[in-house]
Amino acid sequence: MTDTEIAYCGRRTNPKVVLQLYSAIEMIRKQRQIANIQRVVRVMEKDNSYTPTQILHHIHNAVLDRLVIETITVGCKGSKLGVEQEGYWIPDPEQTSDKQTTKRERIELGRCLHFVATQQKELMPELNQKPSKEICPFYDYFIHTHYDLTMLQKDCQNCVFSSVDEFQAKVELISHNYSVVFGENNKLTKLAKQVIEECQHDLVELRLCQNCFHLSNTKPVKEWFCKPCQPPHQVVWAKQKGFEFWPAKVIRVEDNRIDVRFFGKQHPRAWVGADAVRAITVSPAQLKVKKKPQWKQANDEMQEYIRQCECMKVNKNGENCGNKSLASKIGSPQNLHLGYIKKHKAKNEGRPQPKQDAMVLQINDIGDEIKTEDSVINKLSVMDETLKRSLSTSKKRNRQKSTQSKKLKVDSSQDVAMQVFNKFKDYLVESNHLQQAKLMRSVSIKISKLLWRRRHVRINNIVQASFAQQDAELNLKNELEAQYNEQYKKLKEEYEKKIMEAKKLQWCALCGEKADVFCCRNTNYCSTACMDKHRTEHSALCISTKDGS
Ligand SMILES: [Zn+2]
Ligand SMILES: [Zn+2]
Ligand SMILES: [Zn+2]
Repeated sequence: MTDTEIAYCGRRTNPKVVLQLYSAIEMIRKQRQIANIQRVVRVMEKDNSYTPTQILHHIHNAVLDRLVIETITVGCKGSKLGVEQEGYWIPDPEQTSDKQTTKRERIELGRCLHFVATQQKELMPELNQKPSKEICPFYDYFIHTHYDLTMLQKDCQNCVFSSVDEFQAKVELISHNYSVVFGENNKLTKLAKQVIEECQHDLVELRLCQNCFHLSNTKPVKEWFCKPCQPPHQVVWAKQKGFEFWPAKVIRVEDNRIDVRFFGKQHPRAWVGADAVRAITVSPAQLKVKKKPQWKQANDEMQEYIRQCECMKVNKNGENCGNKSLASKIGSPQNLHLGYIKKHKAKNEGRPQPKQDAMVLQINDIGDEIKTEDSVINKLSVMDETLKRSLSTSKKRNRQKSTQSKKLKVDSSQDVAMQVFNKFKDYLVESNHLQQAKLMRSVSIKISKLLWRRRHVRINNIVQASFAQQDAELNLKNELEAQYNEQYKKLKEEYEKKIMEAKKLQWCALCGEKADVFCCRNTNYCSTACMDKHRTEHSALCISTKDGS
């Protein structure tokens, strides 16, 4: 897999490297040692010939990708006493598979998304297939992954998506492709952007409550609004201007306003202020409601909803609730509060939680949930106050009641508080260590990168200097060679000229001087004196006619 592909799918690490890390960790674990950073680096360096910097980088990314689990332990014996050690672990396959959505959830989500996709497909037939070759002959050259509304609908049908975000990403991919090929101002690009906008509304609703989305879009039965969602929505009295206090389901809570959906004929949605909401335990008489037929119908529907919630609870727990009214449980501020937390948590994990005591649940998960829950509690505190104020019982009695109910859940609230506090303390200490270690590692990576870069610059300078020297030497050599060649040519010419001249000259047969006096073929003399001296010796060979005469 190339780097760009990794960037595309949002993972930082290369799978090959992660597998190498796994085998390194496994090897160290087989030696019954903790796979700390030094050991992992040593093994990776030896087996796969990476540099320590590269290995640190890979480990860092693998931890960010959650493909390798990092723990910090403080040594408790020997030389490691009090020394913080990072340990690296291969994630537990059961834990990771637990995070994934179940098949049933996928089917339910697919059903809802199919509805959205089908609607868009019918509205925008232009985006149902790949643009034809006539419109864009080079489409395949530019587009990495083609996608259209027909494919989207099919993927929904096959329950491919495990979250709403995946669906949204695909819708955005269609628009992205058109932007790439046709530009921002093209008609098709604008249509694709419109699809994103139109899906947005549905997807917001889908994220809020999948059950509500499905029920209100398909309306499978006449009394669909009475069917409880998973988990069920809280029921309150909510007041809009010009209306009575009306029974409504709480869809979401935001700051000090609440998104509700009213019981009745049309089931309208509305944002109401937290001060316009009362607990369902408050009697309509106290709220001075005028019971008109429409209000009565809404109230009946609400009663039916509560009855079905109760049935669902009985079926789930396999035990009878007896005469206890669910209305009181749903309506009381404390339960509303904890119920919301449960719902919030369930939504976070993408599946409903098994029935558990809310308090215990809170303690068990204090580590990872503490932040979210705090914010939720803050949000709800405003609402709680309103609800408390409206309760008919006095404040004092109310407090007594809540202590009693707490006593039913745990023997001593102090113990719980201490447990929560200790868990929170441990969590803070652990997260502090983890952050310190991460900081240290990122700093060490930065330093080693910096050093590497400096070394690189220095080496570069040296290499540049030696190149310059080589160039100068080469130039000098060429110059000298040229001079030498010129000189050689000149001398050669001179030599040849002289040879030619010399060849033309004749020489005295006796003394070797330049000859002017001709005797016979190949025999000349510089002067008559030499000729006379040489006569006796030469006369035998002379072929001159003069000589013979
Ligand atoms: Zn719902
Ligand atoms: Zn001579
Ligand atoms: Zn002669």
